[in-house]
Amino acid sequence: MIQGIAVLGSTGSIGEQTLNVVRNYPEHYRIECLTSNNRWERLVAQAKELQPDSVVIANKALYPLVKDALKDEPIKVYAGEESLSQIVSGDSIDVVVNALVGYAGLAPTLSSLEAKKKLALANKESLVVAGDLVMQLSAQNSAPIIPIDSEHSAIFQCLVGEHSPIYKILLTASGGPFRNTPIDGFEDITVEQALNHPNWVMGAKITIDSATMLNKGFEAIEAKWLFDVTAEQIEIVVHPQSVIHSMVEFDDGAIKAQLGVPDMHLPIQYALTFPYRMPLHQPRFSFKDYSELTFAEPNLECFPALRLALESLERGGSSCCTLNAANEVAVQAFLDKKIGFTDISKVLEYALSNSDWSAKSTQSEYAICDAQGREIANNYIK
Ligand code: NAD
Ligand code: MG
Repeated sequence: MIQGIAVLGSTGSIGEQTLNVVRNYPEHYRIECLTSNNRWERLVAQAKELQPDSVVIANKALYPLVKDALKDEPIKVYAGEESLSQIVSGDSIDVVVNALVGYAGLAPTLSSLEAKKKLALANKESLVVAGDLVMQLSAQNSAPIIPIDSEHSAIFQCLVGEHSPIYKILLTASGGPFRNTPIDGFEDITVEQALNHPNWVMGAKITIDSATMLNKGFEAIEAKWLFDVTAEQIEIVVHPQSVIHSMVEFDDGAIKAQLGVPDMHLPIQYALTFPYRMPLHQPRFSFKDYSELTFAEPNLECFPALRLALESLERGGSSCCTLNAANEVAVQAFLDKKIGFTDISKVLEYALSNSDWSAKSTQSEYAICDAQGREIANNYIK
C-alpha cells in the first residue's frame, strides 16, 4: 500500500532530506502535502516536481506568489500557520513528518495526533514545550510517534524487541564547535564560528543550539517524554566523532548502541519504514575511517545553557516552555548580531527566574507561557 505523506517544513534541512528518501521509493510513498514559511520559490519547485494534493505557505504575504506560480497545476494552495494544523487531518495522509523548527511545530504535532496520524517527529520543540500533552494525546489516540532526531532514533532502535525497562539512557553529544574552547574564549565567539558545526549540516537555529549545547538539554527533555524516564536516568556523554548515536543500558548491565555515519537520511528513512528497514544509498560507516571513538563528560561551566535545560527538566511544569521561548528570542538576536554568544544563556536564566511557573498547563496555557517567555526575553535584550 502506498502511504500518503505530509512534510511540514519541506524546504528545511530535514524536509529536503525527507524528500530525498521519498524520491527513492515512489512505489511506497506519495507526497500529499508540502509546506514552507518563507522559501516560496523552493516550495513551488518541490510542488511542480512531486505533485502533492496541497501546499501551505505559512507566511501569508507570500500567498499570491505561490498561488500564481502554481496556477496551471492541480495543486491546492493554502496560507497561514493555522492551515498547517488543518491540513494534517486529510484522509489521504497516513504519516505526518513534522520538520518545522521551533514552537510553531507544537500545534501541528497535536493536530496530527488528534487526527490519529502516525507522526515522524523531528520538531523536538513540541516535546520540550508540551511533552506531557503530546505523549498523552499519542497514547489516548493510539497514534504512534517515531522520533527522527538521531539520538532518539538510536534509542528507539535499541529498544526494538526489548520487554524490560530502561536502566539508563546514554545520550551522546558531539560537543559542538566549541568543545575545546577555553572558558575565557566564549565571549568572543562570532555568529559565523557558531554556525560552523563540525559534524552536521543543519538549519541555523539548531546549529546555534548545538553550539551552546542547549540542543543536548532539549534532547534530554525529549528523551524523558519519548521513553518515560527520569532526569536521573539520562546521562549525557560527549562523543566528538558522532558515530554512536546514543545507547541504552539495561538492568543486567548490557548496553546497546546504534552506530552509523552522521547523516540524517537514516533516521528519517527509519521513521518512515519502521518496523522494516530498506536499502539507503548514502555513505556507510567503516571502522577504517575511525581509528578511535572517544567519550567525555560535558562541561556545564562552559555550557551554562545545558545546565539550565537540565535544571528545567528536573523542575518540570512550564519551565521547559519558558526556556524554549526565551531561547528562540535569544538565538534570533544572536543571529541578528544584537547580542553576544554568552548573552544567550543570560537571557535564558533571566527568563526562567522572572516567568510565572505552573505545574500543569493546557495547550492555551502553554501559549500564554510561550508569549510571556518571549516578552521577558525581549525586554531583557532591549
Ligand atoms: P530548518 O530551519 O532548516 O527548516 C525549518 C522548516 O520549517 C523550513 O521549511 C521553514 O520554512 C519552516 N518554518 C520555520 N518557521 C516556521 C513557522 N513559523 N511556520 C511554519 N513553518 C516554519 O530546520 P531543520 O534544521 O530542518 O530542523 C527542523 C527540526 O528538526 C527542528 O526542530 C530541529 O531541532 C530538528 N532536527 C534537525 C536536525 C537536522 O539535521 N537539521 C537534526 C535533528 C533534529
Ligand atoms: Mg539530535
